[in-house]
Amino acid sequence: MASEVARHLLFQSHITTKTAHTSSQVSDHEQKQKESPRSLTMSGHVGFESLPDQLVNRSIQQGFCFNILCVGETGIGKSTLIDTLFNTNFEDHESSHFYPHVRLKAQTYELQESNVRLKLTIVNTVGFGDQINKEESYQPIVDYIDAQFEAYLQEELKIKRSLFNYHDSRVHVCLYFISPTGHSLKTLDLLTMKSLDSKVNIIPVIAKADAISKTELQKFKIKLMSELVSNGVQIYHFPTDDETIAKINASMNGHLPFAVVGSMDEVKVGNKMVKARQYPWGIVQVENENHCDFVKLREMLICTNMEDLRDQTHTRHYELYRRRKLEEMGFMDVGPENQPLSLQETYEAKRHEFYGERQRKEEEMKQLFVQRVKEKEAILKEAEREASAKFEHLKRVHQEEKLRLEEKRRLLEEEIIAFSKKKATSEIYQNQTFMTPGSNLRKDKDRKNSNFM
Ligand code: GDP
Repeated sequence: MASEVARHLLFQSHITTKTAHTSSQVSDHEQKQKESPRSLTMSGHVGFESLPDQLVNRSIQQGFCFNILCVGETGIGKSTLIDTLFNTNFEDHESSHFYPHVRLKAQTYELQESNVRLKLTIVNTVGFGDQINKEESYQPIVDYIDAQFEAYLQEELKIKRSLFNYHDSRVHVCLYFISPTGHSLKTLDLLTMKSLDSKVNIIPVIAKADAISKTELQKFKIKLMSELVSNGVQIYHFPTDDETIAKINASMNGHLPFAVVGSMDEVKVGNKMVKARQYPWGIVQVENENHCDFVKLREMLICTNMEDLRDQTHTRHYELYRRRKLEEMGFMDVGPENQPLSLQETYEAKRHEFYGERQRKEEEMKQLFVQRVKEKEAILKEAEREASAKFEHLKRVHQEEKLRLEEKRRLLEEEIIAFSKKKATSEIYQNQTFMTPGSNLRKDKDRKNSNFM
């Protein structure tokens, strides 16, 4: 609480200095004269010495929020450790090993210790490391963290903001659970930590540390740290700038990664009930610093550095996300000639650029339209030309056919005329034959006719 108050005060003093600078922007000459605020002594009590108390009271009223992300394989002991850390049963159900994808499950709880209320969100990686193809295991985690930053940014950018009672879901710490193999980090662990280190405060822990011997554990810790350093993975280091906690934090940094054991079971040791894991050969006491680093983790995470973790999340990780996002949107603090740009100027420039771009696109589309129309016209003309050529051809064929038929008719008519002539001649000839008496021909004809009757 004291460190939080100190930080708030530091923030307040920044504001004072800044205000002094702003108000002194009357002229360059005046600004030079008033570069630092004047120190004055007061002749009596004013009352702003109660500011720290005011802050403490307000914070207590408001309550705190803290969000923990647990990354580690199914069954590595995440839920048990979280239960042990907060001394309660969060009733998280046992996860299956057969999920096709990694899924993030967030649950929020309200806790109270004395008069301090804590809204605690625990985000669990369900199915992490269970798939045969582990390539996509860390992407849902990255997406989840970014989504929380995005939600906060959207709230910040609203005209009507409600940041005061906003449920801040940004992840303040990532407890990264490493298997107690005694060998080295798995590729998946390295890849995951590498992709998360610029987005969240990572505290690596060796899970189920009762599964590794004391000498092996020391070597394992050294190996893990050197692997993290050689792969450029940035983990969270307890801050050493606040002198009240610098010593303890510096010494705890030397114990990273913490080797932890979790258990909610109570076992009688001497005449005391302690949290422990009981085995046929002995008892591992969770809160015994000779047995594991659980107490160190709890001290560092909850009692000493919770506020710094929240602060780092806002000032470092969220700030980076916000900067990248605003830059992507085209906002910048300085112009092309390094002159400072206000939000209004950036907005105007962006609007100008947008209109220019829109006009250019419109022009392009118009030209494209004209070109398309011309192409279509040419195609239609070509089709028309082909159709008229076809029509001409058919007309010619029809004409030829007509001529051919007329010729045929003429020939037929000639044939008919010739035939009629022949017929007439033959009739004349027949009549002459009838006139001749006793003609045999007439007798024959009469006979033929009587047979037909
Ligand atoms: P999660 O799937 O990562 O949440 O794992 P759980 O917390 O559900 O734990 C899985 C199993 O590991 C349970 O049987 C726990 O009792 C056991 N376990 C949890 N913590 C430890 C530990 O520190 N040491 C040992 N040996 N077992 C543990």
